[in-house]
Amino acid sequence: MNFTRPHEECGVFGIYNHKEAANLTYLGLYALQHRGQESCGIVSSDGLHLHAHKRMGLVADVFGNPAVFKKLPGSAAIGHVRYSTAGASVEKNVQPIMVDYSRGSIAVAHNGNLVNAQILKAELEAYGSIFQTTMDTEIIIHLLAVARTNSLVDRIVEALNRIKGAYCLLFLTKSRMIAVRDPNGFRPLCLGKLGNAWVVASESCALDLIEATFVREIEPGEMVICTRDGGIKSLFPFKKVAPTPCIFEFVYFARPDSQIFGKNVYLIRKELGRQLAREYPVEADVVISVPDSGMPAAMGYAEEAGIPFELGLIRNHYVGRTFIEPAQSIRHFGVKIKLNPVKELLKGKRVVVIDDSIVRGTTSRKIVKMVRQAGATEVHMRISSPPTSYPCYYGIDTPNRKELISSSHTVEEVCRYITADSLGYLSSEGLVEAVGLSNEVCKACFSGAYPIAFPKPMDNNQRELFEEGDAHNE
Ligand code: AMP
Repeated sequence: MNFTRPHEECGVFGIYNHKEAANLTYLGLYALQHRGQESCGIVSSDGLHLHAHKRMGLVADVFGNPAVFKKLPGSAAIGHVRYSTAGASVEKNVQPIMVDYSRGSIAVAHNGNLVNAQILKAELEAYGSIFQTTMDTEIIIHLLAVARTNSLVDRIVEALNRIKGAYCLLFLTKSRMIAVRDPNGFRPLCLGKLGNAWVVASESCALDLIEATFVREIEPGEMVICTRDGGIKSLFPFKKVAPTPCIFEFVYFARPDSQIFGKNVYLIRKELGRQLAREYPVEADVVISVPDSGMPAAMGYAEEAGIPFELGLIRNHYVGRTFIEPAQSIRHFGVKIKLNPVKELLKGKRVVVIDDSIVRGTTSRKIVKMVRQAGATEVHMRISSPPTSYPCYYGIDTPNRKELISSSHTVEEVCRYITADSLGYLSSEGLVEAVGLSNEVCKACFSGAYPIAFPKPMDNNQRELFEEGDAHNE
């Protein structure tokens, strides 16, 4: 079986009952662009048929030509932005997936990753299913097609009862839009209202842009069905489990102006910085951040430590996130292309640099060098999360264990590698406390404790992620 590594970062947006459905979805995807920059797409419904436009590229490029919207008529639409690893960056994997099957047309957009995709795919293929993409999302479509129940809702429930993992899903048929969040609630999903239209989005920043009102978050395990009479129906058709929202959404992934899991991301990041200052204080003259993701934490750190915060590194905003660049060769240039120090500010200073995470260590190493070359006398690195030691299986793109520097190196060794004078990571307890959620969270990337285990046997691609021979998932 040739399944690509289960790595995807995505954002979903949907709107039901608005005459500008496709246009508003385009705007929603714009606001969610940070969740995936490789490809995007919109499927609309005019009540009779589904219409799709999807391509590789950024939202502005794929939907840059206004003529595109003439091909997306109707008062309902769903959209998707996606980033995946190099192997799967092909046109056929662009979402939403749209198919015609015996019951009509259906489109689906998915944020998250399934952990039992391999097993289900093998089973479906054994019964004659032919897969057109390498995305595990397609499995959901095949499960829908073979479901024995009658109504669409029942078929979706039947299909989803077979899958395990992280999913925020938007389904669109000619007459209905259905949103589902997995029982663990790994990824965020919220519900909004714009006049008589219902809106669903991965993050609330997408509602803000189209001036929709934030109604509430879609609950873990909830299915929200938008119906023709302008209402919604809410169901909880799955076995209840203790929710485990992803803490890394707060650390890095979500936009700071979003409200997710009941909290504002910016305020949480600032609190992470404050907590970091309490845990790892240092005598210094200036606090700077790695923009943009480290910014709120750096402000919190500076406030708590009583050290001035400055914009010591200036970012070129026309360059995408370095990590997102698929080719290793580009990634090496990445930091310089993206960031430049303000030398006059850093010269002769003891500098604290705040970033949200160290993954491979490449970025921090280059930044420390850059800050030193700008004339800093000391460079102290502070990270507003614990060491990232384990890969994510639930929708955040992390490399395999071997590439995660903290999976095989102590903090002292990482400090030496990045050539900093000192290095301090926020503790796991500090992170959880600062986030302050009353329920459990998924922090598997830091702890290796995976809320949903991989069914045995692990296939080669899954095993490859654990190259150090780890068995933390059971
Ligand atoms: P690295 O050079 O691999 O250590 O990357 C660390 C940088 O990547 C940090 O500045 C983070 O803000 C950023 N980062 C961490 N996780 C991710 C992710 N899943 N996708 C994109 N960027 C990330």
